[in-house]
Amino acid sequence: MSASLRPSPISATVDFDAPGVQHGFLKLPISIDTSAWGAVMIPVTVVANGEGPTALLTGGNHGDEYEGITSLLKLASTLRAEDVRGRVIIVPMMNMPAAEAGKRTSPLDGGNLNRSFPGDPNGGVTSQIADYFNRVLVPMCDVALDLHSGGRTLDIVPFAAAHRLDDIGQERASLAGAVAFGAPYAMMMFELDATKLYDTAVESQGKTFVTTELGGGGTSTPASLAVTERGVRNFLVHYGLVEGEVETPTEPMIYVDMPDASCYVQSEHSGLLELTVSLGEMVKQGDVLARVHDMSRTGAVPVEYRAQRDGVLIARRFPAKVGMGDTIAVVAEVVESLERDQDRS
Ligand SMILES: [Zn+2]
Repeated sequence: MSASLRPSPISATVDFDAPGVQHGFLKLPISIDTSAWGAVMIPVTVVANGEGPTALLTGGNHGDEYEGITSLLKLASTLRAEDVRGRVIIVPMMNMPAAEAGKRTSPLDGGNLNRSFPGDPNGGVTSQIADYFNRVLVPMCDVALDLHSGGRTLDIVPFAAAHRLDDIGQERASLAGAVAFGAPYAMMMFELDATKLYDTAVESQGKTFVTTELGGGGTSTPASLAVTERGVRNFLVHYGLVEGEVETPTEPMIYVDMPDASCYVQSEHSGLLELTVSLGEMVKQGDVLARVHDMSRTGAVPVEYRAQRDGVLIARRFPAKVGMGDTIAVVAEVVESLERDQDRS
């Protein structure tokens, strides 16, 4: 199918086959009011040294998730060719227009990059970025790491995650990378809708893929950046791109599974959100997680939202104002191991 598509309109100012450190851009032609013959300039760094695997490190898939953007900007300016065996491709801000606007989605076309795969070379800007990753960058890589967090509307415990995959070898390789990342939590993640995700595009090409959620609230903290930076380095060490030892966290890692959609608690009311449980706290099915208060009057009884399963609160809505359909809370199941049971494999 992809053979019939025209080549991507995006061109790179770096040579992906050249050794050494290169900083440049992925240039996407645009024609807008402020720039008739212009281009979206997406920064990219390539660090290559000899034989070895290729790692594709990405942040800013959503433009308001700063833990990944900040740590990859720092890595791009410090990683030396002699540190690397193989090739590391770093794109700190995949959806550059969104990142520049400080938003989750692109101000140019409203596009949510992580709902735009596999993309289209004849589509809007966001779809063209997706297509370039899908047909140019992802095929170059052996392992890919995508750094997400909650952005402005969610706060999430720091975790690295893999997905259940049909290919058990691919699933195990991805899960091993998620564990090696060394965040406080490792997760087998259930997606509400996986069809248009970058994750699915990478996994469908048989690549080893690790995704993460590393905080949120539309900012970063010293703690969230420390987890992110250690995790990126651990990822590169684990897959043999950087020499050294994987640095394991001092606290025991917590393994969590999201077996189905009952993990997500979504609001059926608009109002003021009062969380009654903190991130990382254990809950039982039926426990009150949150109340939504009617802001249009006094004297009204708040609506209670309860956990639909036992587990740990791994994500919460960040802003206090909540609307219909917003995810209020996510409860994941704590498990001994994320390896498949014999009878599941
Ligand atoms: Zn994200």
